[in-house]
Amino acid sequence: MRNMPAVLVVEDESAIAELIAVNLRHNGFRPRWAMDSESAQREIDASAPDLILLDWMLPGESGLTLAKRWRNDPRTKDTPIIMLTARGDEADRVAGLDAGADDYIAKPFSTKELLARVRAVLRRRAPEEAGEVITIAGLCLDPSTHRVTFEGQPLKLGPTEFKLLNYLMGHAERVHSRAQLLDKVWGDHVYIEERTVDVHVKRLREALTVAGPMVETVRGAGYRLTAKPAIAVSADKASA
Ligand code: CA
Repeated sequence: MRNMPAVLVVEDESAIAELIAVNLRHNGFRPRWAMDSESAQREIDASAPDLILLDWMLPGESGLTLAKRWRNDPRTKDTPIIMLTARGDEADRVAGLDAGADDYIAKPFSTKELLARVRAVLRRRAPEEAGEVITIAGLCLDPSTHRVTFEGQPLKLGPTEFKLLNYLMGHAERVHSRAQLLDKVWGDHVYIEERTVDVHVKRLREALTVAGPMVETVRGAGYRLTAKPAIAVSADKASA
């Protein structure tokens, strides 16, 4: 991890923002605070943060809208986003993750948990040790450049999907349970639910659409990447 990572806190409630900022500062981070979407955008334009803590309920544009936009912006597409929200049910959590958030913290949260999640997400985003280029059935992943292509055509993957694909391709044809994937890909799954794996597998499959159904669901067991996807068996639908 870099020294003193810059964390942009996007939160309209000043008491919460202050609490987060104080704790971040005392733990080796450089917090910056934005109260709404416009000032958050200005902060990002001025200097890209290492991580964004993003409140869901904001005046004007919602955190969900911002997460989607930043995920699609070349400047912020690799910036980890943790959503903060009072919303706690599964549909909301999934919506947050689907919008491109890396993790999710329900309010009220302990500052200890918040710091643990910030560290875990930054660790997950730490650059991969540059491994060998892996090619399976036309799908090619280059860990040193973070590029994925299918038959020479570049594919767009989020950072977590890249890491997941890197692991699956490095251990192709083998079945991995959700718990194993959390352990190997996320590394620190203390606070991450197994459902999170399903969300990222879904996104990975969407990114790999042109390559066919290479990521299979193995019922009751987990997931596997295969060079020979079962024809007409919709692995995607099995987990939908
Ligand atoms: Ca709020």
